[in-house]
Amino acid sequence: MFQNTREYAQQLDSQDKIAQYRNEFIFPKVNGKQVIYFTGNSLGLQPKRTKAYVDEIMSDWANLAVEGHFYAEKPWWDYQERFANPLSKVVGALPSEVTVMNTLTVNLHLLMVSFYRPHGKRYKILCEEKAFPSDQYMLQSQVKFRGYNPKDAIVEIKRREGEHNIRHEDILAKIDEVGDELALVLIGGVNYYTGQVFDMKTITAYAQSKGAFVGWDLAHAAGNIKLDLHDWNVDFAAWCSYKYMNSGPGNVSGIFVHQMHHADPEMPRFAGWWGHNKERRFKMEPQFDAVHGAEGWQISNLPVISLAPYLASVEMFDEVGMDALIEKRDKITSYLEFILGEIQKEINGDFEVITPSNPVERACQLSVYLHGEGRNLFDYLMKNGVITDWREPNVIRLAPVPLYCSFEDMYEFGQVLKAGIQALHP
Ligand SMILES: *Cc1c(COP(=O)(O)O)cnc(C)c1O
Repeated sequence: MFQNTREYAQQLDSQDKIAQYRNEFIFPKVNGKQVIYFTGNSLGLQPKRTKAYVDEIMSDWANLAVEGHFYAEKPWWDYQERFANPLSKVVGALPSEVTVMNTLTVNLHLLMVSFYRPHGKRYKILCEEKAFPSDQYMLQSQVKFRGYNPKDAIVEIKRREGEHNIRHEDILAKIDEVGDELALVLIGGVNYYTGQVFDMKTITAYAQSKGAFVGWDLAHAAGNIKLDLHDWNVDFAAWCSYKYMNSGPGNVSGIFVHQMHHADPEMPRFAGWWGHNKERRFKMEPQFDAVHGAEGWQISNLPVISLAPYLASVEMFDEVGMDALIEKRDKITSYLEFILGEIQKEINGDFEVITPSNPVERACQLSVYLHGEGRNLFDYLMKNGVITDWREPNVIRLAPVPLYCSFEDMYEFGQVLKAGIQALHP
């Protein structure tokens, strides 16, 4: 069993096989002290090696100008191909099934062109209740664009009264209920608010057996959980790279399109020259001939200055490997849960972890409902160097990111939390 002492936390750090990666990141400071950073699920920290990747593009541009497209050491015209191998390992795909382009919501819109094809009575989309707002707006606008009413065409899977998480059996029941009206299932693989992880394999197979396409928004999953998108037979997926994948604010998104769709000539899509047959891209032909792979969904030539930080990060993930990351993730998340429980016992704190306690239904994040404390406690934590985020009505989200958080951070956090609650309720 764990212990709530600094010595014990330091001992866990000394046994941590990936502890050295903490030194690869730049931590902001509060009151001259390195922060405890719990918001890597919102914006990951900057890796120290990233700047060199960006500087490389800047000097190639300075020294080579247009020639950089072909003669830079990492040529720009096919820079995105450097992601195929390492990124495919992060999401469990074939290299040809992934690529990087645009931003997340934009990519979801583009993938809807291919995978939301309502016809006859099959026009409904199934999603989770209180999906991330951008996903809700995206779905509503797509449905309206196709001439349907969102109130009718978008079906939400709800939480049961008084429960914080969605039950797996309720998802399957909803798929049954919508039945042959179901065109598409699009859910966040890891819920941004509660941190709940969905059983993507089962849900994908079940909805496909009813004739629907299945896509996943992996914003909170990429770089956080074990994904096997190819083997799960997922139709498509997209994720951003600035959360667990540390590529910098608002940066480029990744997409997955299953191999089974690569050569389908009937697949509708919005096309551009970067999705055109690579051997003939610069022949400037009038007829579009899609690359057979996720790259067939590319549109424009790529923002290489933005891709550079993502490449730095993807290569780091490749070095570490998802298995080592997940091993530490489970341990540090359990340790954080233990610390929260200990502090609660010591001072009778009025808060509750709403993330599922079942380890297969959660990953890095613990969401804590502050019943008694509220916003003042959040402000206290921030002022004292614990960076978390606040979500209405009364939730703070804590992501002990395994790449750069330490076990000692968890112990230290417990002490700040305790002092904060005591200061607010003297
Ligand atoms: C973070 C997040 C987004 C953000 O979308 P952008 O297009 O990158 O601004 C969208 N959906 C989910 C589920 C997210 O967690």
